[in-house]
Amino acid sequence: MIKLYEGKAKIIYQSPDPEILIAHFKDDATAFNAQKRGQIADKGAINCTISARLFQYLAELGIPNHFIDQLSPREIRVRALKIIPLEVVVRNLAAGSLCAQTGLPLATPLNPPLVDFYYKNDALGDPLLTIDRLQLLNLARLDQVDQIYKLALQVNEILGQFFQACGVTLVDFKLEFGCDAAGALVLGDEISPDTCRLWDQTQADPQERILDKDRFRQDLGNVSTAYQRVLDLVLSHPFFG
Ligand code: UDP
Repeated sequence: MIKLYEGKAKIIYQSPDPEILIAHFKDDATAFNAQKRGQIADKGAINCTISARLFQYLAELGIPNHFIDQLSPREIRVRALKIIPLEVVVRNLAAGSLCAQTGLPLATPLNPPLVDFYYKNDALGDPLLTIDRLQLLNLARLDQVDQIYKLALQVNEILGQFFQACGVTLVDFKLEFGCDAAGALVLGDEISPDTCRLWDQTQADPQERILDKDRFRQDLGNVSTAYQRVLDLVLSHPFFG
């Protein structure tokens, strides 16, 4: 297979059909703009399956996304998109960079949910954008920003309820969007414990409850076990039962 692109967590391969790509999920983990690097056992297979299932669920509920099917434990077929260089973060509870930058205490409820746009640019450290800067840099048209904002909030509603049914709190998550061959806006990338903050509602302890990449970022241990628990909980949802 011809490799098109290798990122921090995935490799993108060509397929015989130019409109279809193959995303291969790796065990490599990075944090703090790749200053911290490591491996999480079985992460690739776990995140691939979690993403596949969540994209399948989102499609069922009317959210256009790039997922076609899962080829193998670590590979999904996706529609080729022209990726918009934005990282769209939706937050339900304050955590991570929001706490660091605003002083809000961890777990402060955000009503309505907060939508943050970041410039997807590793060399610049993915800076937070304003709408004016987003336009200055021509990263997306305003009508696309409007559509992305609405889609991101819809995804939040759907996934928030989905995870609630699994006993998990969706604290925040990151989405990426692109345009398909016809120019339609489509959700891309992945949705996994690498890109979401997920808290186990059966655990009161603020460290024990963490089921996502914060375990890796903060060296909390049992990273792979937590990811596997997210997969098990996702698969236990009635939709997949
Ligand atoms: N996130 C991500 N990729 C990034 C930055 C953030 O997937 O490059 C996710 C992160 O896992 C979390 C959410 O987006 O679920 C919000 O992250 P935040 O801005 O708080 O940054 P962090 O604390 O991860 O530096």
